Amino acid sequence: MKAVSDRVAQTWVDLPAESDFPIQNLPYGVFRPRRGGMAAASPRVGVAIGAHVLDLALLHQAGYFSDSPLAGDNVFARGELNAFLGLGRPAWTAARARLADLLSDSCLSLRDNAILRRAALYKQSDVEMLMPLRVGGFVDFYASREHATNVGIMFRGPDNALMPNWLHMPIAYNGRASSIVVSGVDVRRPMGQSKADDAAAPVFGPSRMLDFELELGVVIGGGSDLGRPIPISQAAEHIFGLVLLNDWSARDIQKWEYQPLGPFLGKSFATSISPWVVPLDALAPFRVTGPGQDPQPLPYLRCEEPWGLDVGLEVWLQTARMARPERISAVSFRGMYWNIAQMLAHLTSNGCNVCPGDVYGTGTVSGSSEDARGSMLELCWKGTRPLTLPGGETRTALQDGDTLTLRGACQGEGYRVGFGEVRATILPAAG
Ligand code: MN
Repeated sequence: MKAVSDRVAQTWVDLPAESDFPIQNLPYGVFRPRRGGMAAASPRVGVAIGAHVLDLALLHQAGYFSDSPLAGDNVFARGELNAFLGLGRPAWTAARARLADLLSDSCLSLRDNAILRRAALYKQSDVEMLMPLRVGGFVDFYASREHATNVGIMFRGPDNALMPNWLHMPIAYNGRASSIVVSGVDVRRPMGQSKADDAAAPVFGPSRMLDFELELGVVIGGGSDLGRPIPISQAAEHIFGLVLLNDWSARDIQKWEYQPLGPFLGKSFATSISPWVVPLDALAPFRVTGPGQDPQPLPYLRCEEPWGLDVGLEVWLQTARMARPERISAVSFRGMYWNIAQMLAHLTSNGCNVCPGDVYGTGTVSGSSEDARGSMLELCWKGTRPLTLPGGETRTALQDGDTLTLRGACQGEGYRVGFGEVRATILPAAG
């Protein structure tokens, strides 16, 4: 028999087998109950536990956070996580400890308070998940060597696949924050200007090369001051957690516009994120040393701690004619060349500040095998190798009515810390 101290922590809440949300995870989101009166309909912060959501606004009101840095304003009675994030790491740690205690099978306080328990614990099927953050700034990196190499080979040939700067810093661009949407919000095919290689002039119309990008998004908790770079050793003070992120991309628009200033309308029409923000603390057991970096990065990009993350990621596609989704890619995040601490150090290295709720994407996650690629562009090798789906349909780009889902999880011993999913269906262009 295992000693109590090293058994896997358990909760008194029913946990479905293979749940993404055991007590080891406790991800934060913003939800609105579908039942109840007007008061119950206001958005508030919750944590996922099994197939349920725990209402933190109500727990705060009931005094469960009164002896912590969370006392005072009810930061959970808000329609976004920003106020909670802005309180900083001491508050995140206090909240997580309190919740892990309340939900553990050795704590009777909430379990045996039938009235509060019934009011505060919702089935996830009884709530609507909302956009969890007010995102002020969005940056997208390009940190997978395999992805950068694949794209480089397709556009410039094998001899110039990686640009000369790529091995010296995590490359990125400033993206668009206003068009970030939560899972479940449909995505409209963008209109835009493109020019076929053999055409004399560009045309304006619906994108014909709509693609996804499989990424993780890093959520900034503690902001920084303008003019003060975040040293890489301080990254964990500013990184609150991670979400799944789909960086929708219109390849035809992107290809025609991206030189000389980089991605613009081929990217800014939509970015989808998952509703649950998995805390960095929940990912601690899954931190690993990333791939070796050669040449050695400059001093401001060198880190002592292991900042790689062992997260398994998957892409699922379902067309309007398919009865169920089909997995079209599976790849591990642990092979990413640049890690999320290096990204934050680089992003702020010139003095640029970050704010609570800011998000940066890691860039498309691709591995070395042909089925471990995080975009349609790579899976179909620029349209030359169409995907064949069950039922016989083929794809080299997403079609109207297609539903694309990203999933991710870390596998622990006897439990799994999952990200849930980010899903969206493609709507026809507005015309
Ligand atoms: Mn991207």
